[in-house]
Amino acid sequence: MQHVPILVIGGGIGGMAAGLALARAGLHAHIVEQAPRFAEIGAGLQLAPNALRVLNELGVLPQLDKHAVRPRNLIFMHADTGQHLTTVDLGAPFRARYGHAYTVMHRGDLLDVLLQACLADDRVTLETSRQVVDVHDRVETAEVTFADGEVYRTDALIGADGLWSRTRLLVSDDQPVADHYVAYRGVLPTNEITVSAGPEDEIIWIGPGKHLVQYPIRGGELYNQVAVFRSRAYSPEVEFGDQWGSPTELDERFASSCDQVRASVELVNRERRWVMYDREPLDNWTCGRITLLGDAAHPMVQYLAQGACQAIEDAECLARQLTAHPGDIPRAFAAYQAERIPRTSRIQRVARGWGQVWHADDAVVPALRDRVFSRRPSDDYTDLDWLYQPVAS
Ligand SMILES: Cc1cc2nc3c(=O)[nH]c(=O)nc-3n(C[C@H](O)[C@H](O)[C@H](O)COP(=O)(O)OP(=O)(O)OC[C@H]3O[C@@H](n4cnc5c(N)ncnc54)[C@H](O)[C@@H]3O)c2cc1C
Repeated sequence: MQHVPILVIGGGIGGMAAGLALARAGLHAHIVEQAPRFAEIGAGLQLAPNALRVLNELGVLPQLDKHAVRPRNLIFMHADTGQHLTTVDLGAPFRARYGHAYTVMHRGDLLDVLLQACLADDRVTLETSRQVVDVHDRVETAEVTFADGEVYRTDALIGADGLWSRTRLLVSDDQPVADHYVAYRGVLPTNEITVSAGPEDEIIWIGPGKHLVQYPIRGGELYNQVAVFRSRAYSPEVEFGDQWGSPTELDERFASSCDQVRASVELVNRERRWVMYDREPLDNWTCGRITLLGDAAHPMVQYLAQGACQAIEDAECLARQLTAHPGDIPRAFAAYQAERIPRTSRIQRVARGWGQVWHADDAVVPALRDRVFSRRPSDDYTDLDWLYQPVAS
C-alpha cells in the first residue's frame, strides 16, 4: 500500500489548481486522474478577477498572458430582436476596481499552464489512467482503491472529481439536477464567422428559453461559441438518453432569432451536446480526512461563468487552511468549508436565478430586465462587487 501525504482525485482545473496551491504553500500533493492524459474539452472559458487574483498568487499569470484575450466590453443583446440591452465596460475602470482584467481563454491552455507549473514543482506528483473506485475515511488516515485493486493511503484526501463525484457519496446521496437545458459549444477559426461586435468583445445574446455566448480566444485566432436552449423534448424518462436536446431542436429553438444569431448558431459544433446540471448546495463537504473541491463540492449552472473560478478560489483557501492548522487535517477541512460553503452556495443559487432572468418568456420579467439593463451606465459595477471583489478571509 502506497502512502502519499495529500491525495487529489481528479486532474481537471480544480484538482490541478489544488495541487499547485498546496505545493506553493510548501505541501506535497499527489494528483490522480482517470483519463489517459490531462486534457480539457475544446472550448473557451471566462476567468473573472476573483480567479485571476488567485492565479496571480500561484505565479502563473505570465504564462496565462500568452494565451489570454482581454475583452474590452461584455455586450448583452436580445437574441430575437437583435436589440442592444446593455454593455459592461471591461476596460480601465473595471481593471482599476478589481485589480485584474476580465479574461477569456481556451480551457486546454489554462489546464496546460497549471499542469506545466505542477510538473515544474517537485512537491507535486501526478498519475493518469488511475480511476478511483472506492474511498474510505479510516480516522487516522484515508484510503482510496483504484480500478486495478491497488490501494493508496493518505493523510488528507481532496475529491476534485467533478459533477458525478465518487467522493461526494461519502457526504451526500443527492443527485445532479437537470434544468432541461442543453449546450452545444466549440471553437472555430475567427475568419470563418462574421463577428457583429468589436473583435475583442464578448457578446451574450439572451432570449426566451435560449442564449448564445461568443468571444475570441487564443489571441483572437479562434472564436468560441456556446449555444444553450431549453429542450421541449425533455422528460425525466428520457433524461439519460439522447432523445432530447438534438441538433434539430437547436435549430428549431433558434429559428426565431435575428439573422446574426441564426447564422452563428449554424456554425456551432454539433458533435456533442452537454446537459446542464447543477446540484443543491450542501452544508457539509467533509468526512474526517476527506473533503470536496470544485464541481464535486458545488456544481453550478454556468450563467455566472464561475464554476472553474470557484474551484480556483477553493484551491487557495484549502492550501491556506492546511498551512494554518499544521498536522490537524479535520480542523483545517472544517475551517475550509466554513469559509467556502456560504459563498459557493450563494453563487449556485444566484446562477440559477440569473439563468431565469436571461431565459424568461413571460410578459413581465423580460420587460423589467430590458428596462433595468438599458438604464445602467456601462461602468456601473455595483452588482458585480460581491463576486469579483477580494473575499475577506
Ligand atoms: C457550457 C459550460 C460553460 C462553462 N463556462 C465557464 C466559464 O466561463 N467560467 C467558469 O469559471 N466556469 C465555467 N463552467 C464551469 C466549469 O467548466 C467547471 O466548473 C469546472 O471545469 C469544474 O472543474 P473541476 O476540476 O471541479 O471538475 P472537472 O473539470 O469535471 O474535473 C474532474 C476530473 O476528475 C476526474 N475524475 C472523475 N472521477 C474520477 C475517478 N473516480 N478517479 C480519477 N479521476 C476522476 C475527471 O476525469 C476529470 O478530469 C462552464 C461549464 C459549462 C457546462
